[in-house]
Amino acid sequence: MTVDAPDATGFAIAARAGDAARAGVITTPHGQIATPAFIPVGTKATVKAVLPESMSRLGAQAILANAYHLYLQPGHDLVDEAGGLGAFMNWPGPTYTDSGGFQVMSLGAGFKKVLSSEFSGGEKARTASGEDDDVAAGKERLAHVDDDGVTFRSFINGDVHRFTPEISMQIQHGLGADIMFAFDELTTLMNSRGYQERALERTRLWAERCLVEHARLTAERVGKPYQQLWGVIQGAQYEDLRRRAARDLGAMDMDGQRFDGFGIGGALEKENLGTIVRWVTEELPDERPRHLLGISEVDDLFTAVAAGADTFDCVSPSRVARNSAVYTRTGRVNLTGARYKRQFAPIDETCDCYTCTHYTAAYIHHLFRAKEMLSSTLCTIHNERFVVRLVDEIRASILDGSFDALREERTGAYYGSPR
Ligand SMILES: [Zn+2]
Repeated sequence: MTVDAPDATGFAIAARAGDAARAGVITTPHGQIATPAFIPVGTKATVKAVLPESMSRLGAQAILANAYHLYLQPGHDLVDEAGGLGAFMNWPGPTYTDSGGFQVMSLGAGFKKVLSSEFSGGEKARTASGEDDDVAAGKERLAHVDDDGVTFRSFINGDVHRFTPEISMQIQHGLGADIMFAFDELTTLMNSRGYQERALERTRLWAERCLVEHARLTAERVGKPYQQLWGVIQGAQYEDLRRRAARDLGAMDMDGQRFDGFGIGGALEKENLGTIVRWVTEELPDERPRHLLGISEVDDLFTAVAAGADTFDCVSPSRVARNSAVYTRTGRVNLTGARYKRQFAPIDETCDCYTCTHYTAAYIHHLFRAKEMLSSTLCTIHNERFVVRLVDEIRASILDGSFDALREERTGAYYGSPR
């Protein structure tokens, strides 16, 4: 069986900068995404505290939701019945869903997130699986990995569930996002080299099964908009494993069904981010798009784009906003600080978001002090706009040849010296 992506989907590269940066356009049945692009996260089919209309107005081109959370609640069948994720949440544009693997294994085992900027080398990470598993004292292990899939307990009520590559595909087809990710095994930097090799081989075999099931479901669900499936490259901090995974998944072809793009996942230390992404993008097919999972820091975005990543997602802009932390051109600040009590001016004079064009920092400082919900809404709009706009400016700089100058200027202003 051969399944070709219809003409309504694809990726076109418009311009390049440096060794690997590129600007392009991803086409989906629900519209186009100009890349590089930051994709805000709406875990449970909502960007917390913000209307989809506001997300559209602040320039978000797509929303990424979480297959694990939506599987547990309200269930992918219900979302399918509603017409898919976008129709369900009143978001007419493109959508992404992740495979659920990260949440199954990380929430299931209760271990610390180890992606990019949130990695804390001082804290021992825990993994969900394997002989070098190390469960936090006093915590029950909630996820078990075997060659066929993962058995885990719901974080909501403790019920036992099982994900396999086939089940992840069925869930993601039910959710109906334009871009889906293959089911992969998440490892951490604390796993042994031997374990990383075995996990990578398991992820390779799961990738093949995802392609087969994806082709079957695409043929079965005639009349539904075409959904792209992107393979996920693992391999932790090992150059040979990362390159091998990228070559394997880049060349993978199951009876004519290939990956439409790729995700770069797993354990990445901030200082190795650019190096690891570059290993992977050197091996991947140039003409297919790449998504880097879980970054939004200013320096990380420039580093990832320079290394050849096209789209990114991260929960941080909304998560920190709800805790009163906001991004400004000159760095991240906390609005509960006394200096904002009488700042009758926007959070950031250079920001064009709805919040900064209508409200003062003094007012938002008051909202946080008074524990008013509107504080979360206003700060999330600001932070999401900040990251979306920065990545849009990065795109423009690739198109007009000023990427390096923009990187120096923006990281210099944000951190005090260029990065
Ligand atoms: Zn703003």
